[in-house]
Amino acid sequence: SERTLVLIKPDGVRRGLIGEIISRIERKGLRIIALEMRQLERSLVEEHYAEHADKPFFGPLVDFMTSGPVVAMIVEGPQAISVFRTLAGATDPVKAAPGTIRGDLSTDFGTAAQQNLVHGSDSPESAARELKLFFPGFFPG
Ligand code: ATP
Repeated sequence: SERTLVLIKPDGVRRGLIGEIISRIERKGLRIIALEMRQLERSLVEEHYAEHADKPFFGPLVDFMTSGPVVAMIVEGPQAISVFRTLAGATDPVKAAPGTIRGDLSTDFGTAAQQNLVHGSDSPESAARELKLFFPGFFPG
């Protein structure tokens, strides 16, 4: 079985969608093995999204991700990385299919940083890096 980092972004927390999003994860059979609500430091967000440092949306993305608390989770299950990405739907809320978290629930159709409710690691390598970044205490050594 696999582990992935899931974040409920500040728009999801602000809109009262924590329960709805967690329900979808649980109903799909994935297990939440750690969970924390917290305000992220800019430096952590910059490291998390380092691959986007050169993009025009990077500044707005860091502003958005630090605009309020997020819920960070370690989610576990068979193929948890892909399964959660499928549950989340396409990055762009305009394109995300109905039935997905972003397709059903995101109402952001065009801002500087896409407010698309959730993040999920996109590969085993990203998951390992991101889980250590967000839950250092969980991974001794
Ligand atoms: P995440 O990494 O948050 O799960 P993702 O993997 O679907 O999202 P990435 O391409 O890694 O998408 O982009 C990271 C985040 O940056 C997106 O979730 C979105 O919030 C923001 N973003 C990506 N592309 C754009 C864009 N063209 N304009 C504005 N914001 C963007």
